[in-house]
Amino acid sequence: MPEGVVNGAYLVAATLFILGLRGLASIRGARRGNVLSSLGMLVAIVVTLLDRKIIGFELVAVGLGVGAALGAILALRVHMTAMPQLVAAFNGFGGGASALVAGSAIASGTVMTAATELQAVAAGAVSGLVGALTFAGSAVAWGKLQEVLRWQPSNTSLHHGINGVLAAGALALFALVIVDVSLQWPFWALVAAAAILGVRLTLPIGGADMPVVIALLNSASGLAAAATGFVLSNNVLIIGGALVGASGFILTTLMSRAMNRSVLSVLFGTLGPSEGGPGDEIYEGRIKRTSPEETALLLRDARSVMIVPGYGMAVAQAQHAVRDLSAELERGGVDVKYAIHPVAGRMPGHMNVLLAEADVPYEQLFDLEQLVGTFAQTDVALVIGANDVVNPLAREDPTSPIYGMPILDVDKARTVVVVKRSLSPGFAGIPNSLFAAPNTAMLFGDGEDVLRELIGELKATG
Ligand code: NDP
Repeated sequence: MPEGVVNGAYLVAATLFILGLRGLASIRGARRGNVLSSLGMLVAIVVTLLDRKIIGFELVAVGLGVGAALGAILALRVHMTAMPQLVAAFNGFGGGASALVAGSAIASGTVMTAATELQAVAAGAVSGLVGALTFAGSAVAWGKLQEVLRWQPSNTSLHHGINGVLAAGALALFALVIVDVSLQWPFWALVAAAAILGVRLTLPIGGADMPVVIALLNSASGLAAAATGFVLSNNVLIIGGALVGASGFILTTLMSRAMNRSVLSVLFGTLGPSEGGPGDEIYEGRIKRTSPEETALLLRDARSVMIVPGYGMAVAQAQHAVRDLSAELERGGVDVKYAIHPVAGRMPGHMNVLLAEADVPYEQLFDLEQLVGTFAQTDVALVIGANDVVNPLAREDPTSPIYGMPILDVDKARTVVVVKRSLSPGFAGIPNSLFAAPNTAMLFGDGEDVLRELIGELKATG
């Protein structure tokens, strides 16, 4: 196929990727964005296959069939609550695939015959290093989010020291790959060292920092793909990888800001529940319970209600009940809004996805910046399964491990009702002074059940 045609098609694919990313920037454009990006990927794949004739089409068809079937099964079976693990796994597979493709180019000698040999070899080494680190780090992130991996060693100076030795060893191997790529073993040793480093870097990171880690690994998987693009001299892989790398890095920055953490402090810090802050004694004698009947009366009399969803709404799959509740309140003339914290739930955009699935209008969703000063004007804040993202200790207690993390100021509302099953802590593992506040009442129970009861009461009294 003429080079001009191939590069023209790649340009079309790259434009579709960029338009897709633009669509993904808003909830309204997300579906269109996904379709455009997928179309771009289809163009890129078809043109690459026609151009390169790398392997027989029978094998390609088998690969496509197996991949598509696995993807469809995963997409249909995965629970919304397990989405972050799936994202972590996808990042890992992306990084692992990039490292393997670069490795096979090195093993088969393709890079040695490339016109720009040094560039291709260096890119192969970058791909092996970053790809293996991403794969191993993502596997640990997956294990932590799936809660099959509970071990969390501390970030001691010994731990850092060993990581430093490993990093120095990886750099030496990197140099060796460039000096004599035909040796081959330094590449695979580099992959092994990077994988061990990936595990050791991710293991000490606490749950509360996982969103930043996942975004960072996403960015790294893009970098590995772009490097592999240089190995294969494939322009669309370079552009696609660079886009993933850059957008992942922007997301990392946004997420760190939302949690008031720097990326370096996430990777090398020691945030953990045991670091400080009060214990459960802050609840003693201060917890007020309420019932669906009482809450229904309170909501009926309110002019403005702010619904604050969190991870518990995802666990209870209560998003449809939430939508029904707000419809019932609006029928009674109540102004209903939703307050969305960027790290509520277990993945970026978790709450937006769930509420969109339940057809909650986008116009009713407000983020941190839009909500400054709003809670003070709110009659009732109804917190549904949110915990860390509404914890006033992040604002008030400098000894708290989440001190400085921007939170939704629900405690400033006239009355707060918190729906959750118990006084158990959230992901950060620390108590929440909101539950003991004088204007807070706890409505204990499963999110979905409690909301359905509440709707029943509202209907009965309305
Ligand atoms: P939290 O994890 O702080 O709290 C969730 C609460 O939901 C729990 O306290 C739990 O209490 C309650 N809950 C669980 N199941 C139910 C149920 N069936 N019905 C009602 N309530 C239920 O959630 P937040 O959303 O407030 O905060 C997110 C946390 O997760 C932050 O610390 C964030 O850093 C972290 N994180 C975020 C990621 C992201 O990208 N968004 C990724 C990874 C971590 P109880 O058991 O008593 O019911």
